[in-house]
Amino acid sequence: MPELAELHTIAHDLKNAKIINQKILDIKVHTTSIIRPVKEIDFINSLKNLNILDIFRKGKYLVIKFIDKYLIIHLKMTGHIFLKEKSYAIQKHEHIEFILKNNKLIYFDPRRFGRLYIVKNLDLFFKNIGPDALENNLPFEYFLKILKSKKLQIKALLLDQSILAGIGNIYADEILFNAKIHPETIANKISNNKIFDLYSSIEDVLKKAIINRGTTLGNSRSNFSSIYENKGQNQNHLMIFMQKICPICKKSVKKIKVAQRTSHFCQSCQKKRIK
Ligand SMILES: [Zn+2]
Repeated sequence: MPELAELHTIAHDLKNAKIINQKILDIKVHTTSIIRPVKEIDFINSLKNLNILDIFRKGKYLVIKFIDKYLIIHLKMTGHIFLKEKSYAIQKHEHIEFILKNNKLIYFDPRRFGRLYIVKNLDLFFKNIGPDALENNLPFEYFLKILKSKKLQIKALLLDQSILAGIGNIYADEILFNAKIHPETIANKISNNKIFDLYSSIEDVLKKAIINRGTTLGNSRSNFSSIYENKGQNQNHLMIFMQKICPICKKSVKKIKVAQRTSHFCQSCQKKRIK
């Protein structure tokens, strides 16, 4: 599932491709189940002939701004945005085409869990989404207060988008390994020093993933790729997620379920007791 670093890569590439200030000349909807509003004509009419004013990321969402509304894209498991030549003929699982002057944006999603929403009020849409894990300078005081107040397992807390937006399974494991914290540790039992390590690790891990242009875990077209269908490179730099040997102590990496997600950790480097 694309997380913060992958969405950052998509938003960054779209900006560099000079999509901002381009007009949506037409929209072709081939699958209506993924659009909101569901009625094709309403979806098309509300965006047709509007200029794209901005593109940014909020948590795991891509936001495209128009004069009086936003198109919010949630890629979920296998959603992708591709930038193609105007003459490009769509292929299987390519559900929506946004026609621009010289090219077009394609929404591709083999599993069809993704959603494209047209909304007027961004704050209302994101009312249950917490502050972004990387942008807006997440204050340490907020992070400390949240951790001290939660009896949740720390891995579950990092995955909870209502607390902190943008972190998914891959980067949660990487962040906890970097901070040397066991994924099942209860958040309010973690010492202030360790909380600071965790706070720094969020930034370190996510910035590294952004520099590496996201994580692509397999070769199929459903795995993450950029708008140009290039793979990310962060899979070559993962420390613990889907690894066999701990890069620090060389012991074998353990796998357990935490918050219903497979979690990778080193039982030697990430002890349960945190002091
Ligand atoms: Zn280790």
